[in-house]
Amino acid sequence: MATLILKPGRERSLMRRHPWIFDTSVERIDGPVKNGDTVLVARHDGTPLARAGVSLASRIRARVWHFAPDSPVDHAFFRRRIAQAIARRLAHPSLRGQQGLRLVHGEADGLPGVIVDRFGAVAVLQLTFAGAERWREAIVDALWRALPELEALYERSDSGARRLEGLEPRTGLVFGTLPETVVIEEYGVRLFVDVVQGHKTGFYLDQRENRRLAGQLADGARVLNAFCYSGGFSLHALAGGAREVCSIDSSGPALELARRNLALDPALPADRARWFEADVFTLLREWERDGERFDLVILDPPKFAPSAAHVPQARRAYRDVNLHGMRLVAPGGLLMTFSCSGGIGTEEFREIVADCAAKNGRDAQVLARLQAGPDHPVGLAVPESEYLKGLLVRLE
Ligand code: SAH
Repeated sequence: MATLILKPGRERSLMRRHPWIFDTSVERIDGPVKNGDTVLVARHDGTPLARAGVSLASRIRARVWHFAPDSPVDHAFFRRRIAQAIARRLAHPSLRGQQGLRLVHGEADGLPGVIVDRFGAVAVLQLTFAGAERWREAIVDALWRALPELEALYERSDSGARRLEGLEPRTGLVFGTLPETVVIEEYGVRLFVDVVQGHKTGFYLDQRENRRLAGQLADGARVLNAFCYSGGFSLHALAGGAREVCSIDSSGPALELARRNLALDPALPADRARWFEADVFTLLREWERDGERFDLVILDPPKFAPSAAHVPQARRAYRDVNLHGMRLVAPGGLLMTFSCSGGIGTEEFREIVADCAAKNGRDAQVLARLQAGPDHPVGLAVPESEYLKGLLVRLE
């Protein structure tokens, strides 16, 4: 096994158990090493600290598998970690009975770059780190053992993050047989999950609790759901008694899925739903000119800042969407606004929203801070800003 020697003093974040080692912290790697190999990580004076997988293409040069430098990283390690992650989810009271949930969440479960989402009898695997790719067989084997009741494991290792790792995309059936359709129930709302073509692993599971909240706030309300994808927030709002729900997305296939979702439950008032295939930035301005008003506006844009380089332009995009989205909120109405950009921290996001309210001359009150569901835990060492953050705001 090769040894990765850190520059002097660069062990500090590792001592806090942050699992990432940036290229700028690496003095050298002693011994032959290929992308994804497991290496011993040592302080500059040679003291062993951890075992990590290396990624030769990425600025995140290595991610720690464990902080016990004498223990191996092997099949048993992955069996243990995966079983622990799943047991943690099953033990969580608010995840009991959920048909759609994240079973394994990368770094927060001590499994960098490994995502496993479960939708009923189907699970979806996504590997976004060269080290995880190297252990793919062990990971699949561990999932097979831990989830004997699965009908299928499907792989969606096609996220943009793979490119930074020097990995090709890979998708397809890993084991079992895919049912013709995958449907989950989320707090009484039934939703198709397109594990093959859908975004990410097929569905935005992290918004589960916030979709439920939108349903609880929607009674009698006129609701705008911008960036609606397959209509999750919209359906919860309709089920919650919304007077009308207008939903916008630029993706035709996403809206098609949304319409199919609405048709799944004949009890939902389909005549109260209107779908708009359009650019949110443009349509918000048009509706502003037309004097449209809503009691609840939901803004859940895609990740505008996937990396630090995108932050300035992402900042402008969040400002724009919140400034114009707010103008459609009726006096005394509610805004649910989100960001999933790692480059924009919790505080900065709150500032952006506060600035927009001030610019619009609106008094704003934060009623709640909104986060991802409990199946998306935030590891103590991993910055919270990496995850979904949101605000529920009342605008006078
Ligand atoms: N709220 C959704 C997830 C939203 S994901 C849920 O709960 O499931 C972000 C969505 O924004 C994607 O569906 C994408 O197609 C859409 N999108 C991205 N840019 C857009 C734009 N400029 N205008 C409209 N929709 C856009």
